[in-house]
Amino acid sequence: MDKNNPIIKINNVSKWYNDLQVLKDINLEIYNGEVLVILGPSGSGKSTLLRTINGLENIQSGEVFINNEIYNCRNCKALSRKKRAEVGMVFQQFNLYPHMTTLENVTLALRMVKKKTKEEALEIAIPILHKVGLDHKSHSYPSQLSGGEQQRVAIARSLAMQPKVMLFDEPTSALDLELINEVLDTIIGLSMDGMTMVIVTHELGFARRVASRVAFLDKGEIIEIDKPHDIIIRPKKERTKMFMKKIF
Ligand code: ADP
Ligand code: MG
Repeated sequence: MDKNNPIIKINNVSKWYNDLQVLKDINLEIYNGEVLVILGPSGSGKSTLLRTINGLENIQSGEVFINNEIYNCRNCKALSRKKRAEVGMVFQQFNLYPHMTTLENVTLALRMVKKKTKEEALEIAIPILHKVGLDHKSHSYPSQLSGGEQQRVAIARSLAMQPKVMLFDEPTSALDLELINEVLDTIIGLSMDGMTMVIVTHELGFARRVASRVAFLDKGEIIEIDKPHDIIIRPKKERTKMFMKKIF
């Protein structure tokens, strides 16, 4: 881990929706290969923070850098789709195109945004589908897949763009209990490959297993950030303690 060179750097970021301040002077550095899990109550700003990292939100102060390149700031222009794809994002809802097969969903942006030929796109997509365990579902449509499979297609679709970083916003919250683990295992596989990730989740066992660090966010503020055990089992701040009591 190169502490001098964070892959994600968030400097003094604040964001308001009208009068409501949803991010309060966030400062965060995430290093290559690190997995940061974000925990926090509903409405605390977790999704807003991920979308800010990804350049989807306008912010009123501060900057976000990805690999030392500015990605979001007060007056930053909207990113091109190609640039934005350097940061992959996976949501609770899978948002696949229903009229496209798995392979078509995974290769679409490669062809449209990265201008790859069909053959080039397939060369990238096929090993990724293998990695997420879906080779045998290449020609299925989303309606023919389970929720866990659909979410793994969504993960493959992001990975196909060869992102530097992956962001996950409650990736298993829409899944039936028995399908959660196949998605979590896929994410654990990515961490073993050294992918840098920021993951919002309520799955504490998974967080303890996969996270390099855990941040507790409340009312738009990072209350504490530390190794998983030190946040989940032995938090220091009162607000973190109360949250952990509630969700354990
Ligand atoms: P979390 O993901 O932790 O549940 P969010 O980032 O979605 O929290 O929301 C943080 C706060 O910002 C909440 O109070 C929410 O109501 C508010 N918020 C989110 N999106 C909007 C929006 N588009 N317009 C106004 N307020 C919003
Ligand atoms: Mg959210």
